[in-house]
Amino acid sequence: MISVYKGIGKVDILAIGIHPDDVELSASGTILKHISKGYRVGICDLTKGELGTRGDARTRLLESKQASEILDIDWRVNLEMADGFSVIDKMHVLKIAEVIRLAKPKIILANALDDRHPDHPRGAALAREAFFFSGLKKITSIKGDAYRADSLYHYIQDKHLTADFCIDITDNVDVKMASIKAYKTQFFHGKEDTLQQTPISSPAFLEFMLAKMKVFGRAINVPFAEGFNIHRVPGIDDLMSIS
Ligand SMILES: [Zn+2]
Repeated sequence: MISVYKGIGKVDILAIGIHPDDVELSASGTILKHISKGYRVGICDLTKGELGTRGDARTRLLESKQASEILDIDWRVNLEMADGFSVIDKMHVLKIAEVIRLAKPKIILANALDDRHPDHPRGAALAREAFFFSGLKKITSIKGDAYRADSLYHYIQDKHLTADFCIDITDNVDVKMASIKAYKTQFFHGKEDTLQQTPISSPAFLEFMLAKMKVFGRAINVPFAEGFNIHRVPGIDDLMSIS
């Protein structure tokens, strides 16, 4: 594990992404909204995204640090797993479980259950297993006391999935887009671009991102929202708390 931005500590929300930029693309509006409410947020990237067509592991780490500064999160770590063909096994699950034990989040946000990039659902499965195994006290080969978060939610990324709930991020869209554009080698950022073009490097991709937020917003009658899927049925205490 390497620290990308500040040092790991207790947070309310832990956002896990298999690639640096997954969290910015899909859940950074939600993160910004909760930071503005006083909650603490950490991000854990599983890989350095070294298989990405544009940029490399070094540039991606720098970009993820800059995005962290823009979001003003508490900290960010990178588990340096190999990018691509992710393996769901004991070693990889326990690496994530250790971060969960050290961060003690109430809520975990994780990759999409299904997506265009095959690593995303594998990231979802890794996070879900770590969510469970972090709570078993007889696992003593990793740091931290046994701890299980209350809930895990999967952020919807590229492929359109029907959301189980949406969060209004209308007030957070501008900073969200700035955090995405911090990944200068990945996405269009208004400068002349001589790198090889990919399905996510054009201005049209950023327009797609805005359109996606509008689609989720439409579902809850606000201008912009992010969509999430749930892993288990949530318990509701007060019907009036659901809008
Ligand atoms: Zn990704």
